[in-house]
Amino acid sequence: MKRAFINPVMVSETGEEWGFEEGCLSIPGVREMVYRPANIVLRYEDENRVVREEAFSGMTARVIQHEYDHLEGILFTDHLSGFKKQLLKGKLTRISKGDVKADYRLRFAGQGRR
Ligand SMILES: [Zn+2]
Repeated sequence: MKRAFINPVMVSETGEEWGFEEGCLSIPGVREMVYRPANIVLRYEDENRVVREEAFSGMTARVIQHEYDHLEGILFTDHLSGFKKQLLKGKLTRISKGDVKADYRLRFAGQGRR
């Protein structure tokens, strides 16, 4: 799916939560089970700046929820239990310090282009 959602607002998230092992380009090498409501309604402006409200479900809803979280400063690891987060802490600290390998180019906060 390739879509543009300008100034998105999450209108509602409903339905049964379902789990999926999510990953993220921002956190290389980490995949964890994340539970999210199945259905969403998103209000956004399309590429012609026309305001639309649209319902999504399943994997499409999940991708939008994941990306929407980024706008709110939330990573998928923030959805994990305290215990899971504790287990990941060392790994996440190493990633934040740039001690990580990925098969795509990475930039770290506070550093220039590399
Ligand atoms: Zn992500």
